Order: sequence, then C-alpha cells, then structure tokens
Amino acid sequence: MTIHLQGVHPGAAALVASTLAAAVRPRPPIAFRDWLPENVVLVDGPKKGELWSLEDAPYLGEIADCLSLEHPATSVTVRKSQQTGVSILALAWCLYVAETAPDNVLYALPSIDFLQDMNSQKLSPLIDAWQRETGKEIIFPSVSRSGAGSTIYEKRFIGGTLALANANVATDLSGKTTRYGVKDEVSKWQTHANGDDPETLFFGRFTAFRRTKTYKIFELSTPELDTGDELGEADGHCRIDRSFKRSDQRFWNIDCPECSFSQKQFFENFLLDRAHPHKSRYTCEHCGHEISEIERVPAVRAGHFVASAHGPDRHPGFHVDAFDSLMMSYEAIAEDIIAHSRPGGLGEKGISNLVLGLPAKLKGNAPDHERLMERREGYEEGVVPAEGLLLVAGADIQHTGIWCETVTFGEDRQSWSLVVRFFEGATDDPSRGAWAGLAEFYARPLTDTFGQPRMIEAIAVDGSDGGRMNQALEWARRHRDAFAIKGQPGRGVPAIGLPSKTSIRKTGKRKRFGSAMLWPVGTWGLKSELMSNLHKPGLAAGEPADPPGYCHFSANVNSKEYFLQLTAEAFVAGVVKGKFKEEWKVLRRDNHLLDCRVYAMAMAERLGLTTMSSDDWAEIRARLRPSSQIDLLSPVSHVVKAAPRPAAKETSKAEAEPSDEAPAMSAPAERPRRKWGQR
Ligand SMILES: [Zn+2]
Repeated sequence: MTIHLQGVHPGAAALVASTLAAAVRPRPPIAFRDWLPENVVLVDGPKKGELWSLEDAPYLGEIADCLSLEHPATSVTVRKSQQTGVSILALAWCLYVAETAPDNVLYALPSIDFLQDMNSQKLSPLIDAWQRETGKEIIFPSVSRSGAGSTIYEKRFIGGTLALANANVATDLSGKTTRYGVKDEVSKWQTHANGDDPETLFFGRFTAFRRTKTYKIFELSTPELDTGDELGEADGHCRIDRSFKRSDQRFWNIDCPECSFSQKQFFENFLLDRAHPHKSRYTCEHCGHEISEIERVPAVRAGHFVASAHGPDRHPGFHVDAFDSLMMSYEAIAEDIIAHSRPGGLGEKGISNLVLGLPAKLKGNAPDHERLMERREGYEEGVVPAEGLLLVAGADIQHTGIWCETVTFGEDRQSWSLVVRFFEGATDDPSRGAWAGLAEFYARPLTDTFGQPRMIEAIAVDGSDGGRMNQALEWARRHRDAFAIKGQPGRGVPAIGLPSKTSIRKTGKRKRFGSAMLWPVGTWGLKSELMSNLHKPGLAAGEPADPPGYCHFSANVNSKEYFLQLTAEAFVAGVVKGKFKEEWKVLRRDNHLLDCRVYAMAMAERLGLTTMSSDDWAEIRARLRPSSQIDLLSPVSHVVKAAPRPAAKETSKAEAEPSDEAPAMSAPAERPRRKWGQR
C-alpha cells in the first residue's frame, strides 16, 4: 500500500503515517520461547499435567527462538535421538501459529499409522489441555459431519487450518498454499512409486511465499542410514542428516564441572558400565575428570549451543541426543545401549539412531565382503580354539541339499567359524541324501586345541520351508540336541522362543511321526547383532584387541562365496500400500549361510550365551581345559563316552558308532543349562 501525502505539513504526514501504522500493524507477536511455558501442558511422562518448562529441556529454547515468527530463518532442522521433547515442540509450534499468526500449517509424517498415533496420543491431548488450561478457544471443536469443525486430519481455526498429511501419499502433499510446515520423522519419508520426492512435493506448497521468504519449515527426525557420503547427498542417505549437514550444525556444549572446558558429549568418551549401568560416567575430553550423573544435570541445564559449520547459506540446524536430554541419564543411556546390543535388540543401528541421534554408519547394514575376507585368520578348519566354549551349528535346508555352518562362541560373544559345508542331495527323506550327510557330520566330534574331541552341543535345522518342515522336524526328533526351527521376522522377537507343537502330516496321509516341536527364532535381532559384530574392527585392523562379539574367520574355512552369502541381506525401510514397513531385504539370491549363522546364534543363545553368569562360564572353561600335566601325559583320560541319545529309534549307523578317527566324545550332559522358564 502506498499513501501519497503531497502538500501536507511534514509533521502531519508523520502523524498520519504512524497512526495508520499502529492500526494496520498487528501487535508484535509474542516470542515462541515465551509462549511455550504459558501454554503447553505436558500430556505424558513424569510431569504430566504440569506446564512445560525450559528447565526440563534447556536446548529447546534456542530452537524455539528460530521458530519464532520474527526470526528470519525459513527452515529449521533438528537431528535428534528419542526422548528429547523436540516432537512436542513441533506440535506446540503449530498451536502457537494458530493463535498468534494464523495461517495454513502442513504437518506431515511418514505413514497413516504415525499420523493416527500422533493425533490421538499427542496432538489432541495437547490441544485439549492447552485450551482447558488457558481458557482459550482457538481450535474449532471436532465435528463429524458439518464442514465447519475440525476433523482428525484437519484442525481448523480462524485464519487457517492445521492439515495432517501422510508424506507418502502424493494427494496429501498437494493442495492449497501453505505458509508453515512440519516435516516430522522426515528420515522415514520414501520416494513415491512414480519417482516423486515427497520433500519436493511438500515444498511445492510453499511456492507463493518463496519470493518474500515469509514461510517457515521445521524438520525433525531420528536419523536412519548413513550411505558413507561425506556431504550426505548420495541417494538413500538419511534425509535429516542431509539437511543437518547443510545447516550451521549446532551442538549442545556443557562445561566440565572440574576444569570448565566446554564440550559436546560424544559416545566415544562415555564410560559404559555394562555390569552396573548406574555407575556409568562420562570422561571430560580435556582433564579426564569422570563426570557423574549428579554433575551432568546442572551442566546440561547451563549448556549452550555451538555452531560447528559456518557460511552464508547455512540455516539453523540442531543436533540433540540422549546425552543432552534431561529425560535421559547416564544410567538410562547405558541401559538402552545394553538392550540394543542384545539379541532381539536393534544392534548398532538402534544405538546410533535412537540413542545417539546419528545415522547408522552401515552400508546397507552388511560390511563389504572383501573387507571381511581381508581379515581372515589362519586357524585350522574344525579345530575349536581355547576360548570356544559353546559349540553349535545351524543348517539351512534346500530341496537339493543342506547348507551348514559350525560356529563356536566365547564368553564375550566372540565367535569362530569352524566348518562350512554343503551336503548335496535330495532332502525329501530325512534318512537319506543330504540329511544322511548332515547326520554323519553331526555324529563326529570336532577337536579342540588341547587335542580333545568336542561334540556340537546343539544344531538348528530350518523348518521354515513348508515343503521341508516335516523332514526337519523328523530329523530333529531323531537326533540329540537337534532343534527344528522357524525364522520369525519383526522387532523385539526373542532370539529363540518357546516351541509350538506341530502335528506332522503329509498331504493326504495320516499323522505319521506324531507331535514335534518347531522352535521360533527371532531373526531380526540376531541379524542386527551379527551385522554390528561384523563391522567391529579387531586385531586384524590394528586394534589392540578383538572386541566382544568379534567374528573370527579363517582362510581355511571361509571362501569368497561364504562372505557373499553372509552379507546377502540388508535392513531396509519402505512404504507398502501407504504403510511404513521395515524388513530384511535379500540382496543376493543365495543367502543360505547367513541363515545358517543366525540359526547357530540362536542355538548359542539357547545354551546361555547372553544369560550365563561368569561362574557358569568358568565352570565350562575348567571342564574343557585340562591341566597341562594330564594334557601331556594322558590325553584320553578326560574323555567320556557319549550319553545315549534320546528318541533315536531310527538312528543311522554313523550316529550310533563314532568313526575311527574320533573314537570318543565329551559328555554333553555335563554343561550347566538354563531352564526355559528362567529366560
Ligand atoms: Zn574437565
């Protein structure tokens, strides 16, 4: 608007102008930081029902400043872990806009499930509590039929709407012009089936405000996968990490209570106490002081953001992780890391994404097979090392043969691949062909470094293939310590669960073998555990020691084909029919040896790999390691004849009589075992 005031006294002109301005200009908006503690009522957590306070999440203040309407930034990025309170900040921001500068807001999440959960568990309770607390009536009440009120996916208010959108549905992202936007869990947004990028579609809604730069987009997410690309520009790279790398990269710094050195807390300096998580501490990188939880809390409260990247085109970007969060503690961080490290946990990826707020540095989860080959050792095939205390095998059943890997595990979950075999032959008859080959192999002991025979203590045979389930069940029934198993996908499924009784039936025939057990094996957690272990560097990579969980391979055991199969799957997220879906995706058709390894891990878990006490381990070690005297003079004195095998009516000759090369075996019944009910 231009007002011409020619010929008027300059003083009068100024008066008119200022009066007009006062009438036209809205009152200066309240800063978002100041609005928050007066309007946001916490709807969950220990302070449920109380007003939001910056005390509990001090790092949110500066983020709120950038989201304030008078702040010039058009986009604000937060790369975060779980439990940081940033999600509530995003929802509160929408309400702040609705009240103080009403305009259209687009809030997008990666799936309809995410949207429904967010609306019912967070947004609706937040709106209700806000309006109840303050007496304000900003958001129109929900009305089911009338077009005037709010619906589940559209919250209406005078001057605009808050639209909730599924980022993976193009029609949700197209529509009317929008001034404010939230890209929530943006790392889980997927390229649409027609190749359209959801972030590009989302941005299309802001076109009208681009020239004047009067729009604002808030993006926040826990990260996903790191492609290894330094700039994060590579295809498939975590979206929030890409945005963060383009930003000014602010990290929350705290002062060491001892030396006052200002620093960002990083995982590398965390003193994780696995046995006593509450004793976990953090080492000051400057003076080495061990910061305790009691010292951490005031230090985090007094912390401040420090930008680590500078340049004219960088927008405000924040990193917030469990170390910065007052909803977390060193103990809680330790517990989460331990939980993710266990079979059934999410492994390294879970720790990176959910605790550290970092993209998981895994190239499609599996390390390069060539890197794995480079670190092969020279130990002999079938010779159990001194620290190999649990000896197990896993078998994958194909129609033309059986793949099998024998693995030994140590107390700290280090493993050694000892024998890899393909037993060729038909698998439709559990007494013949490849099954007979497996039986013969299983009946023979391996040898340990002390020269003593060692029997495999548990073997898993895969009954997942419907066409071979009966054979697997029957073979397992006939052999000692053999388990027919069935892989179970999904998060949080235990490494090995309780078996289901299955009536074995052949099509058109009566029940032939009676009831047998099919043991469920949680493949996701085991694969995550394996992949994170495969990424660990050890002595072969110049490290001072092999870390817990380290996987040993030998040039005498593990061929290139072995490594290709072991790395044949990757954990990927995708959207199927509008629903967010995660799965282990097969990258190579032959992934049998990966399955074998996972089944062997399940057997080790069954024997107590992660549940036995150090006394239990010491007992096994003492039993397996003969005194040097006995070892030198009478190598057979400790050897015991095997116990008779239960339920082995149709036992093959090879099993009944140990072969000449290995005339005796240790008694499997001696080792301590946990009962199922204790797990
Ligand atoms: Zn210090």
